[in-house]
Amino acid sequence: MTETGWPSYSPLARSGELARRAQLGREMMRACRVCPRECGVDRLAGELGVCRQGPEARLSSWNLHAWEEPPISGTRGSGTIFFSGCVGRCLFCQNWPISQLGHGQTVSAERLAEMMLELQGRGAHNINLVTATHFVPAVLAALDIAAQEGLCLPLVYNCGGYESVEVLRLLDGVVDVYLPDAKYADDAVARRLSGFTGYVAANRAALREMHRQVGDELVLDEDGIARRGLIVRHMVLPAGLAGTAEVLRWIAAELSPGVHVSLMAQYCPAYRAEDDPVLGRPITENEYLAALDAFDAAGLEQGWRQEYHGDPEDMFGLEVNSPSSCAKPGQNRA
Ligand code: SF4
Repeated sequence: MTETGWPSYSPLARSGELARRAQLGREMMRACRVCPRECGVDRLAGELGVCRQGPEARLSSWNLHAWEEPPISGTRGSGTIFFSGCVGRCLFCQNWPISQLGHGQTVSAERLAEMMLELQGRGAHNINLVTATHFVPAVLAALDIAAQEGLCLPLVYNCGGYESVEVLRLLDGVVDVYLPDAKYADDAVARRLSGFTGYVAANRAALREMHRQVGDELVLDEDGIARRGLIVRHMVLPAGLAGTAEVLRWIAAELSPGVHVSLMAQYCPAYRAEDDPVLGRPITENEYLAALDAFDAAGLEQGWRQEYHGDPEDMFGLEVNSPSSCAKPGQNRA
């Protein structure tokens, strides 16, 4: 946020900098390197890379969303925009019709800007871009229009953490709150379960860049809504496949013990994991307790956890990231 209280992207829109960055991003799609896969295809000429998406944004839904971390959802909901397609191939993706089959509609920058303004009109606390990694240039173009037409909500970049540092630099001073995953500590596991190449190095470079931009402090407004900062999500997987202890240790040691970490117990087999001998079950209570111990052992100081119920259907209900199950920002979850 700027001193005037406007989101940081507003002066960038007024000065023309946002339009310049949108154009730089668009040029990156001529031999696409918008994400670390660096497919090299010309998306502007209709070629498709791993994400199978063209240059214009494609999305499945936009709505107020209540089940993010408390400083994101607040009381009125987060203005969430779910983008179609994905740069990952997670075997257990809950949203596979959207992420893998690409269900959704292609929208112009003007229409995407209208959606952002509609969400603001409905009382959203923020604009929450879910899995926009492959559409950053289109998002910048839309944001430029929306900002000039009065958008003044914090921008949340909610992603899988497999991000290009070059693209993240286009978002410097544009994104107010980063909400990335740190999914894995082992490249071989990341490749087998999610189809990523070089996930660990890419993820860690991305987290360093996000942390450089917004720092440790999660800045809240008078209602406890996040205005600026970094929240790293980590979902515990069965049989230790997420490398939870190593992920948490790295965050504390290489970023800061003060980074907010959201430790998620909600894993539920879906898509191609349902019949998998290892992934075909929820995590056990002992697996989640071990993850909580790893959080403490790493020296992490701030964040949230989910209640463990043993029943993933239940964990997707009211208890997920609800205030009753979470430490408040600035408090140790323990
Ligand atoms: S954004 Fe899509 S086409 Fe571009 S590098 Fe990533 S996966 Fe490939």
